[in-house]
Amino acid sequence: MAAGEEKAGFPKFKSKHTARKSFYLEGSITVAAKEIRLPRIGWARLKEKGYLPCSDVRNLSCRITERAGRWFVSLFVEEEIADMTPRGEIVGIDLGINRLATCSNGAVIENPKQLKHSLKKLQRAQRALSRKQKGSKNRAKARAKVAQIHLDIRNQRLDAIHKGTSAVVAKTKPAHQRPQVIVLEDLHVKGMVKNHRLAQALHDASLGEIRRQFEYKSAWSGIEVRMAGRWYPSTKLCHRCKRKKADMALSERIYRCEHCHLTMDRDLNAALNLAQVDPLKQAEYR
Ligand SMILES: [Zn+2]
Repeated sequence: MAAGEEKAGFPKFKSKHTARKSFYLEGSITVAAKEIRLPRIGWARLKEKGYLPCSDVRNLSCRITERAGRWFVSLFVEEEIADMTPRGEIVGIDLGINRLATCSNGAVIENPKQLKHSLKKLQRAQRALSRKQKGSKNRAKARAKVAQIHLDIRNQRLDAIHKGTSAVVAKTKPAHQRPQVIVLEDLHVKGMVKNHRLAQALHDASLGEIRRQFEYKSAWSGIEVRMAGRWYPSTKLCHRCKRKKADMALSERIYRCEHCHLTMDRDLNAALNLAQVDPLKQAEYR
């Protein structure tokens, strides 16, 4: 057939040599319970039922694929999705040491319960490793054990962080429960000092991971992420009367305001301050 003469006939595969044979169809497509009507082909019986959307969508086009003698159809559809705009309150999130995170709405991300136990196990395994002779089989075994415990700890932390961050900003939460804005603190505030203690190093890594997850999950959920400047004194301010303490030792777990007599968990007070951060007034705190 000469070029230009080709008529719209039955579609052809691009090449009989390609591993996956497929072609693309555009036009009016109708999906019924047990069959599908395709342009130029007509009705075709569906082997697997209930997978294709048949109502409230506009079917635009599809791709037919052949794999191992079976024919597959995938639909490209346009669908109206419900308004995703979050309508909840502004939530401040204090990243901490005793708890991984404390949120101004009361949500907390605790350190995983098994963690203390795992850290002890790790110390023991590391001591055992250091006593084994270099190059020996027992040393290799001990090293594998240390690696396994490291992996366990990592998984325990990741699991806690995934559950915790999702509980606050997950896309699946109804819009009125999803915060419009979350406020995180600049991690330098926590003085991320170079610390060679293992527990501390792991903890610092967790804070980075919490922040990363809050950021990407918020982006998925339409939540704005604000950063409190590194000079914002979230732990020293009283969230109620806004007066600032001269000093707040790390060991003080309770915030006590000498002006308005607020008495409250230190981290929750910090989270409430973060929720009230005015992005335009950060310079004042320098
Ligand atoms: Zn006060």
